[in-house]
Amino acid sequence: MTKPLLEIKSLTKHFTSKQGFFSKEKVVRAVDGVNLTVYPGETVSIVGESGCGKSTTGRCILRLIEPTDGEILFEGNDIRKLNEEDLRRTRRDMQLVFQDPFASLNPRKTIGQILEDPLIIHEIGTPQERRRQVEEMIEIVGLSKQHLDRFPHEFSGGQRQRIGIARALILRPKLIIADEPVSALDVSIQAQILNLMQDLQKEFHLTYLFISHDLSVVRHISDRVAVMYLGKVVEVADKRSLYEKPTHPYTQALLSAVPVPNPHVTTQRIILEGDLPSPANPPSGCTFHPRCRHCMEICRTTAPPVRELAPDHFVSCHLEDADTIGSHT
Ligand code: SF4
Repeated sequence: MTKPLLEIKSLTKHFTSKQGFFSKEKVVRAVDGVNLTVYPGETVSIVGESGCGKSTTGRCILRLIEPTDGEILFEGNDIRKLNEEDLRRTRRDMQLVFQDPFASLNPRKTIGQILEDPLIIHEIGTPQERRRQVEEMIEIVGLSKQHLDRFPHEFSGGQRQRIGIARALILRPKLIIADEPVSALDVSIQAQILNLMQDLQKEFHLTYLFISHDLSVVRHISDRVAVMYLGKVVEVADKRSLYEKPTHPYTQALLSAVPVPNPHVTTQRIILEGDLPSPANPPSGCTFHPRCRHCMEICRTTAPPVRELAPDHFVSCHLEDADTIGSHT
């Protein structure tokens, strides 16, 4: 059986905030006990509304934000227990692609310098060897050697994201966490970047953890999908199972808003009432209950357990049988 590349167990990130000097400290439960397994070579997406904790989860995995609790096993080693030196070495294998490629590229450095920096930090190669690797990588992402002497502001959004991907890839990582990598781009450019990522995945045997609010994009790129709501994963399944038979009422509502490119198929939009509650004051029981059209008495008081309703299809909901909920058509 294939061993997971990444296993997240009960990952928790709580922030504390205080409004005024005399006010009580509030705990914001940004990530609240997330479990997720990612196998080598697959693309697992995390989806959910803005503020659901998906980006914080990604940053906790890389320890760019220190988690409050939980385990993050990368190739079986808990990266929360690594010392500075071992963490630095492990980070070579885990890279991040940012949403806003412009903000993440140093405007005062040339593209050549930006791509060489990770190699210098990890003490890889001589200057000549590094230059060769940088030239090779810029061509792999569809740009040319001539671009290496230019600055980030001289590129379009799509080109800048290609550079962001090249910078993540130059260390030849095993895992790439891509945080909304195409949401700042035009739709036509989005497709190009997604196709590039898929090509690179095959060529370099990459594993992706793809974070997005856009279910159309997620459908294009994922093998499995985890749906997050208010810091928790409420449903995880392979793409086909999730899109064809979404089981959690929140997943059903999200999917009902995705346009279907077929004039003969009509979809019934499920309108979610109210806004995402504050993670500083989450509802009791099932945190989705104030917005759920299937809410029962038990939902107001008792958090639902995670159950496997079909092979590898996990749901956190009190409704016993998926068929009683009805599926998105
Ligand atoms: Fe809705 Fe209850 Fe399921 Fe929560 S547990 S999603 S409130 S039916």
